[in-house]
Amino acid sequence: MKHELTPLPYEYNALEPYIDEQTMRIHHDKHHQTYVDKLNAALEPYAGLQKVPIETLLQSLNTIPEQSRNAVRNHGGGVLNHNQFWNIMKKDVPITHKMTEVINHAFGSFDVFKKQFTDASLNRFGSGWAWLVVSNGKLEIVSTANQDTPWSEGKHPILMIDIWEHAYYLKYQNKRAEYVENFFKVINWEEVERLYLEAVKK
Ligand code: MN
Repeated sequence: MKHELTPLPYEYNALEPYIDEQTMRIHHDKHHQTYVDKLNAALEPYAGLQKVPIETLLQSLNTIPEQSRNAVRNHGGGVLNHNQFWNIMKKDVPITHKMTEVINHAFGSFDVFKKQFTDASLNRFGSGWAWLVVSNGKLEIVSTANQDTPWSEGKHPILMIDIWEHAYYLKYQNKRAEYVENFFKVINWEEVERLYLEAVKK
């Protein structure tokens, strides 16, 4: 069974003007598709692993034969991270009461949370992601390089931003800070809350 590219949950222009249509087309149809294709290629020799959910593969990278481990880590991460990323974006979704409450509890205020998440995004050198995760029942901000995911460290991502240049360069060029600022206008807080509730239930 091959992994397939999940369709975007909205139109390519749904996040305009903050994330432009052309970026979404290239990001989803080309970059995300390439991660899917390369993950399938990496799993080609292992019929048994092809059925394993990507989260599980990334939580147990040691079980992947060594010659394919890096490819699964990079491309499996690329597939999973983008699947989650599309889902946690939507325009005009105000933050929910529940998420306001848990963010205030963890960080003191929304502004402190936003500053820390922004710093994690801006301080990640090169390509990677910044994340809000649930770790042992608590909220935590982390960043990862390349397509590495906090899943591999047993953490449960609930909000993430792609800070590879392919995610913003066409519209924002070198202005990563402006991209991160505008990302806050397209967070689907209802989905973030759903992921949070799922994470704390475990
Ligand atoms: Mn990307």
